[in-house]
Amino acid sequence: MTVLVTGGAGYIGAHAVRALLRAGRRVAILDDLSTGHRDTVPDEVPLCVADIADAGAVGAFIAAQGVSAVLHFAARSLVGESVADPRKYWRDNVAGSVALLGAVVDAGVRDVVVSSTAAVYGVPERSPLDEAHRTNPVNPYGATKLAVERALADYAAAYPLRYAALRYFNAAGADPDAGLGERHDPETHLIPRVLRSASEGCEVAIHGTDWDTRDGTCVRDYVHVRDLADAHVAALRHLEAGGAGGAFNLGTGTGSSVREVIDVVAKVTGRPLRVVEGPRRAGDPPVLVADATRASRELGFSAARSSLRQVVEDAWAFERGRSGAGGL
Ligand code: UDP
Repeated sequence: MTVLVTGGAGYIGAHAVRALLRAGRRVAILDDLSTGHRDTVPDEVPLCVADIADAGAVGAFIAAQGVSAVLHFAARSLVGESVADPRKYWRDNVAGSVALLGAVVDAGVRDVVVSSTAAVYGVPERSPLDEAHRTNPVNPYGATKLAVERALADYAAAYPLRYAALRYFNAAGADPDAGLGERHDPETHLIPRVLRSASEGCEVAIHGTDWDTRDGTCVRDYVHVRDLADAHVAALRHLEAGGAGGAFNLGTGTGSSVREVIDVVAKVTGRPLRVVEGPRRAGDPPVLVADATRASRELGFSAARSSLRQVVEDAWAFERGRSGAGGL
């Protein structure tokens, strides 16, 4: 039976496709290539280029491929963009996911693992955050992801559907040996932007230096994309074995400030960085650090590759290959 990966040509989805293939699973990808890259799709994996909202195309592909489970990554995922253009997020993340889930339910597919986010929590009342923390998103990105989680909870209560919503903290790192890493355009994420400053000399701004944190900059829990990818395979096995679904945090339990990330990038690359101090970015909570106890206990999740040093080293190896800066 085949695992359908929506957004399988995107950053985290492409890593999950590799993890599934390593686990011996048959995989098919649904991706509209709006932000994904066709060249990340392995030759042996069928690709359907369609919008997740196109229930006809999705239903036909599910039937043709014999899909028994879905990993749902396809989404808009930029906090800043979601504040500036919320309807894109409500349309693609919420209406798109509702259409996709309709096709999934109609096809009788039982197991669904979806990408969710720490942005569902909003400004934390405690740190690290466990899944019981109240959800109160402070940006449209988090609000739309929470809406998808709520739809899934209702569907799982009413239909023969089991789901795991994996709440990622900050996905980062790369799999340079597989030629996979972050290739967003424009790139807004911290680690690739700082690496680009190292490789191409572009300026990188710190979004706020007056936060109530240890050095005034935002603190995030950076988790290696390969650890996230492995967690999806584990979550799927867990659901298939009849394990309890719901929300699972994926993070390391340790936060790094923007300045600490910049320091590690400076050490790993040995290159000068052009860093300036800028204003706060709308929609940013000051601190997001995961308590991932549930995922480690029930899914066997381990943040084995997620030291900040390893994350930055792998992302730098990918960036050097991408930009040609220094070769590999
Ligand atoms: N950030 C920054 N400069 C940048 C990009 C990001 O200071 O050029 C900060 C951002 O405000 C946040 C942290 O780095 O506090 C991580 O941001 P990113 O966009 O990587 O992920 P997010 O937390 O938004 O999912």
